[in-house]
Amino acid sequence: MGLFRLIVFGVLLWLAYGLLRRLIFPPAAGPQPKSVPGATLVKDPHCGLYVDNREAISRKVGNGTLFFCSQACAEAYGQGPNPGTRSAQGQEKSG
Ligand SMILES: [Zn+2]
Repeated sequence: MGLFRLIVFGVLLWLAYGLLRRLIFPPAAGPQPKSVPGATLVKDPHCGLYVDNREAISRKVGNGTLFFCSQACAEAYGQGPNPGTRSAQGQEKSG
């Protein structure tokens, strides 16, 4: 019955491997945006919120498109001195 023993040993090894992998790499690690099937989450460059790109306010900037969570964010971002450079002035309002 050498073959049977080998199969049992293999299955045990496989189970142990799966358990170890779960321990080392937990399924939910770190703050990740919730993924919705069929939707693409985009980051609002102004407030840093993640929004569904189908519901977000889109603005074409240069060759790309930026997405905002609200019209206010899009306008506030567009009025900024220089998109791309961040200045810590603390004048942001959430919403
Ligand atoms: Zn926003």
